[in-house]
This record gives sequence, structure tokens and C-alpha cells, in this order.
Amino acid sequence: MITSERQLRSDYLRKVIEETEAKNSHEKEFIQALKEVLSSLEPVIIKNEELFKSVSLLERLVEPERIVSFRVPWIDDKGQVQVNRGYRVQFNGAIGPYKGGLRFHPSVNQSIMKFLSFEQIFKNALTGLPIGGGKGGSDFDPKGKSDFEIMKFCQSFMNELQKYIGQDLDVPAGDIGVGGREIGYLFGQYRKIKNTYEAGVLTGKGLEYGGSLARREATGYGLMYFMREMLNANNIELNGKTAIISGSGNVAIYACEKAQALGVKVVAMCDSSGCIYDENGINLNAIKEIKEVKRARIKEYLNYVPTAKYTENNGTTPAIYNIKADIILPCATQNDINLETAKIIVANGAIAVGEGANMPCTNEAVEYFIENKLLVAPGKAANAGGVATSALEMSQNSTRCSWTFEEVDQKLEKIMINIFKQCSESAKEYDFDNNYVVGANIAAFKKISGAMIAQGII
Ligand code: NDP
Repeated sequence: MITSERQLRSDYLRKVIEETEAKNSHEKEFIQALKEVLSSLEPVIIKNEELFKSVSLLERLVEPERIVSFRVPWIDDKGQVQVNRGYRVQFNGAIGPYKGGLRFHPSVNQSIMKFLSFEQIFKNALTGLPIGGGKGGSDFDPKGKSDFEIMKFCQSFMNELQKYIGQDLDVPAGDIGVGGREIGYLFGQYRKIKNTYEAGVLTGKGLEYGGSLARREATGYGLMYFMREMLNANNIELNGKTAIISGSGNVAIYACEKAQALGVKVVAMCDSSGCIYDENGINLNAIKEIKEVKRARIKEYLNYVPTAKYTENNGTTPAIYNIKADIILPCATQNDINLETAKIIVANGAIAVGEGANMPCTNEAVEYFIENKLLVAPGKAANAGGVATSALEMSQNSTRCSWTFEEVDQKLEKIMINIFKQCSESAKEYDFDNNYVVGANIAAFKKISGAMIAQGII
């Protein structure tokens, strides 16, 4: 069990959760992420309670080291001044420089920034690479903006962000609404202000100026490597299964590419407007053209494959989750799958859920999946391939070398196999067999708590 409703046995743990909730009651996504992680750590906390209490470990773990919030003024194509709010949350740097993406989406607020950076601490620890947890972004909406407006916004955002980042301090990357184009504009402005070529300050860069091959593909590919390992460990063959993928952005597209390469038939994908169902299997080239080149709506898929079906989203369950498949890959945004949607997915006979997005399932949905014996690949482990490859990009930048696509992909695959192993072993050690959600949290927490205790009360 992992939800907040559960009666916790540790007074210390309950007190920290209650106090953090009281202090941050308006931050619902942050509290959701915090409860999911902390309550699943109870067996480890009970075992070490006196030590953790003596150094206020949990109280320090739930408080970000630093939050920066700033004004981002920019001028649109009509000559009008627009003002957005920017953020960077540097949550925990015990294992290495803060690392985590930037999200540009109108829903961005401090709660979402804190949940994402809190999750990132655990995800980064699982990669085995020296990176701490951070996240940032803005409530800026890139939809419908011209290239020039995107550039002006990115430049203004960087004018302030540059004061708080650096290749040994904090290294942002992309996330929702921030892809190669935005990273390019952000990097250009950083270089101009700092008057130095600090390639390792951002990841997800273009190949011409310090980017890594396979970074674009890494999160989606990594998700499928994790899924394959998880199914194999349960004597299930991935090849021949059907899948649905929510989203049609960076993670969704490359999850689809790797899924197809591994013999999976992906029958549906979506965007925030609606979903397309193609019983013959998604034509990924069409999706790439619609989303990566035209930046258009997924409905356009019908122009490429007239026999496909399009369903508009309305109601609480996104249309895609009414479609039957063996494997469910939520790769869009947080809280996409609530309990009601989870019930539909279970009734439709799915066998596994792989979280490509961050916290795409509510805590109640995850619990329902596990109770009903679905295998769940938790986001902080299953989508860690992106940040892991970002760290490989940083290594290439500091040694001034560049690896081939195959070299990076092989390293990524090894990292994902190793992450799965850690989740599986930690779950077994604490008698949560097959519960990779709890396994991921425990494996990551052991590393973070060890580093925090070793570094003293800071
Ligand atoms: P993109 O911006 O490339 O794509 C996001 C996709 O999700 C789009 O199809 C978008 O549709 C859809 N979407 C976004 N918000 C909503 C919403 N509120 N409701 C329904 N659909 C929505 O982002 P990424 O692919 O990079 O990120 C997707 C998820 O993966 C996020 O949770 C992110 O945090 C996570 N992630 C990303 C990593 C990366 O390397 N990029 C690494 C690890 C995790 P529309 O265009 O209609 O808005």
C-alpha cells in the first residue's frame, strides 16, 4: 500500500507528513508526491528511526535547499509587453549539481515545480550518476507563439536564470514545452551574458553545439528498456503485445519508436485535445511530421491515415484510456490516470503500466493497479533514461569528446537494466515483491539519506 489513507506505524514519519502538509497545504501536487514517497519508505524509516530523528533527516529532505521565483517580461509580436513568472527549485544537491528540466506550460506553479523537483531527487539517485534534484520553468504558454516570440521569452527567462545555474551548480534541460529549439535560445543567451562557452550548463543541446546523440530518444527508449526488463522478470514476453501511449511529445514519440522496434503494436496516441486509434499500428513518421515539424494537432493524423479514428477528449477520462491494450504508457502529464480511469484500464485487461511522464497516475490509481496485479513501472525509475543521458551529455562536454549513437544507447540500456535491478532487489528486501513503486523509492532513499547524513546538518 502506498496511499496517505494508510495508518502509518511510525510516529516520526506521520508527524513529518502532517507538518509538511500543514505548512504547504495549498501545494497539492507536492503533497501528493511527498505522501507517495514518504509513506512507502516506512519500513526503512522504522529500522533507522533514532538515527534519522537525531539529524532531522526527513524534515530536511522535504524542504528545498532553495527556491527562486522571478518576473519574466517580454514583448510579443504586436509590440505588447507580456509578463510571466519563472521558477527554479533546487531541492537537494547532496549527490551532485542540481539537475532537472524546465517546463513551459500555463499550468506551472510552485506546487508543480516542487513535486517535479522532489521526484527528481529520487530519479537522479537511481541513475547511479552524480546529480542532485532540481526543476524549473514558467507559466508561459508556447502554443500559438511565433518562433520570434519563443526566442524573446527564452532570452528574458535566461537573463534571470543565469544567476543561479552553472555546469557545477545547476544544469537544466527540457521538459513539457521545452525542446531543442528552446534549449538553443536559452543556451545562446547564457553564452552571451557569461561571455564564455560553458557547454555543460544545459543539456538537450543541438548536436552542432555540444549535444549528445540519443538524448532526444533517451526517455522513451529508456522507458521501453525498463518495461522489457520488468516483463521478463515476470516471465512475460514484450514482443507481440499491444500498447497505447498518451501524449505525442518527446517522450511519447520515442517510446513508440522503441516499442515498435521491440515488436509491440502501438494502436493509439493522443494530445490534450483527443486521441487517434489506428488498428493497424501507429504510423510514427506521420506523428513525427505532425508534432515535430508542423507542431500541429494530432487530429491531422486522419490526413495521413484516413482509416484511423479520432475521438475528442470530453469528460474526466481522457479518450485514449477507453481503448484496450496490454500495455499502458502514460507519457503526457501528471494525474492523467485517476482511480476511475484505472478501473477502466483494469477492466479492459491491461497487464502493465509504464509511467513515461512524471506522476501520471494518482496515488489511488497506482494502488488499484497493484491490488489488481498489474505490473507498474514507476516514473521516477522508468523515465530516468532522459536525465541519465543528460548526465552522459555533461560527461562528453567536460571531456570534450562525443560518443556515437550506439555507444550512448548501450550505456542507456545498461543504466535502465541496473535501475530495474535496484527497484526489484529493494522491493524483495522489504517483502514488497513485484512492487517496483516501493522498490524505486527505497533504493533511491538509501543513497540520498546516506549522502545527507555523511555531509552533516546543512
Ligand atoms: P512535450 O511537451 O514534448 O509533450 C507533452 C505531451 O503531453 C504533448 O502531447 C501534450 O499535448 C501532452 N500534454 C501536456 N500537458 C497536457 C495536459 N494537461 N493534458 C493532456 N495532455 C497534455 O513533453 P515531454 O514529452 O518532454 O514530457 C512528457 C512527460 O514526460 C512530462 O510529464 C515530463 O515531465 C516527463 N518527462 C520528460 C522527460 C524528457 O526527457 N523530456 C524526462 C522525464 C520525464 P498538447 O500538445 O496538446 O499539450
